[in-house]
Parts: sequence; C-alpha cells; structure tokens
Amino acid sequence: MMTTNKITKFQNAVLNWYDQFGRKDLPWQQMIEPYKIWLSEIMLQQTQVTTVIPYFDKFIEYFPTVNELAHANIDIVLSLWAGLGYYARARNLHKTAKIIMAEYDGKFPNTVDELIKLPGIGRSTAGAIVATAFQQRAAILDGNVKRVLTRYFAIEGWPGKPDIDNQLWELAEQLTPRQRVRDYTQAMMDLGATVCTRSKPNCNQCPLQSKCLGFQTDNPTQFPNNKPKKAMPVKSAIMLVIKNKNNAILLRKRPPTGIWGGLWSLPEFETIDAMHAWLTQTNIQIKQPESIIAFRHTFSHYHLDIEVYQVDNVIFNMIADDDAVWVEPEQLDNYGKSAAVEKILNIVGARTSLAR
Ligand code: SF4
Repeated sequence: MMTTNKITKFQNAVLNWYDQFGRKDLPWQQMIEPYKIWLSEIMLQQTQVTTVIPYFDKFIEYFPTVNELAHANIDIVLSLWAGLGYYARARNLHKTAKIIMAEYDGKFPNTVDELIKLPGIGRSTAGAIVATAFQQRAAILDGNVKRVLTRYFAIEGWPGKPDIDNQLWELAEQLTPRQRVRDYTQAMMDLGATVCTRSKPNCNQCPLQSKCLGFQTDNPTQFPNNKPKKAMPVKSAIMLVIKNKNNAILLRKRPPTGIWGGLWSLPEFETIDAMHAWLTQTNIQIKQPESIIAFRHTFSHYHLDIEVYQVDNVIFNMIADDDAVWVEPEQLDNYGKSAAVEKILNIVGARTSLAR
C-alpha cells in the first residue's frame, strides 16, 4: 500500500506534465460525449492514435450518433473498419450500439460494472469511458499504463499472469485521483505513448523519473517482462483469384466468427487438391489456375502461409448467391476485406479493368 503522500506526488507530477505536454486536440476530445469516447477507445485498442484519427473521423461522418451506427448495415461498418485489424472490435461495436438503443434508450451507462457487460468493452475500456466521458473516478490499465507502472515500480513477471495483472490493477486503482480524473487518464495514456515508449523511453523528459525504479536499473525496457516464449504454429491456405470476362472477381463472405469473420474474402482452400476438386465440381471448363505469389500473414497467435492462384476469363457466372458475389473492379472498395485480401487484390491489379 502506498502512502497518501507518495500517491499525491505521483498524481501531481502526471497532471502537471499533462498541462504542458498532454494531448488536448484529439477529435474525440472536442464536444466530449460517451458515444465518441467509446468509439475512440475501441479503435485505440492495440492501435496508435495517428492511425485511429482518420478512421474515427470517417466513422463519425457516416454514423454521427449511436443510433445511426445501430441501424447501419454490418457490411458498411466492416468496410469502414477495413485496415484497422482485429475485426471482432467492429462487430462488437455494432452489437453494442444495438444494445444501447434497445436496452438503454440510446444512453451509455456510466458505471464500469454495467459497461463491462457490453460486447467488446473490457475493464480498462470501461474505466476510460467512465473517467473520460462521465468524469467519475475509475482506473484504466491499457498497454501504455501497464508499461509506465511496470517500469515505475520495476515489477518483475509477465503482466499477462493473473497475479501480476491483479497487482497492476491495485496500483492503478490507488493512483487514480478523484479530481481531474479525465485529465489524469489522458495523461497516463499520453505518457506511455509519447515518453515511456516501448523501445526508447525518453526518461530525461519524464515527470516520474526521480522516483522511477525502472529508470534506476539503467535498463527500463526490461519492463514489462516478456511473455515466456512459445513457438507460433504455422498454418497454410490456398486463395484463388477468379476473374470473369468483365474482370469481375468472385468474393465469398466468411462465416461471422473466426478469423476475418464476416469479411469478404477470396475462395479459400486447405490444399491444392481441394481447390482442383472444387473447380471440377463447378462443371466449368477453365484453364489451369496459375500460382501467382506466396506470402506469410502473421496473426497474434499463428502464422498463415498463403499461396495465391489466379484464373482469368471464366466464361460462366458460376456461383453467385448471398455468400458469393461477382464484384466489378470499381465496386471492390464497397466490400469489407482483410488486409491480406487487399494485398492480393492490389498485386493482381484487381482494381483496373485491364485483363492480364
Ligand atoms: Fe518510463 Fe523512464 Fe519515465 Fe520511468 S523514467 S516511467 S522508464 S520514461
């Protein structure tokens, strides 16, 4: 347990630094409202502020209120999200918007306990919404804050372990002030993002330097300690680019759960034999698909080796139903796709109407 004096000094150092250097002109800090704070917090999970800003602005333009988002088509939501990654966030955003309209009369609840019941809102995101949108005392512990606290207190052990996580939450709770909780919350996120950065902390510009135990070790970047290493599994997939006579491309919708859930993708197969079997089954005489490229796409928990095949000038409009559509080059941007599929379509020049 920290002394009140130590806690107050920590808070004052952070708040004084915020007054001089903290970010105050972010789009969601103008006309603060729970909807915008929630949207920004979801987008900021695992993503940097500079990446988020254009996405946030576009979302607000399309869906100025939670009501518009709740009534939006999920395909449009996903296409606006395309490129931000971690698509479950977009699907949860949509689900939560519907719940807010149906069960909360369009108003966000203002307690952590209620907020964490909503899809996609964890304890730290709930804390950030309560502190920032409602200015009520609530702690946050996102990646930035974890980094600052593990360094400041020189906490040994991987923060993903429950006992370390509990210890960090306890510290975060104790350090959160009653006054100026919104500024403090923003300050801690900013401090982690701009000063106490992952690989090059700028300790000489840090308001916490004089008492930072991590700084005193001469190697603050050892904190937070890494997760004990486990080799990542490697999976493989075949993706097929099929163009018809008009250079339209066949896209298929992925199931709503699992990787790239609900996004539009290319026909995908586990093996080359499976691809040939599927092509034979379509009953269409086409020339052999050609192997175009192979590359590795890495997810958080495995690598996916993708080999891409292409076949052009398919004559018949085979397979086109709700889950499979032919998309003309100029319509491709209207379909939410994963970064890997975007990459493939760019490589094969899918947006131009010229045949190979
Ligand atoms: Fe991070 Fe350095 Fe500040 Fe410690 S002194 S909190 S390591 S930037």
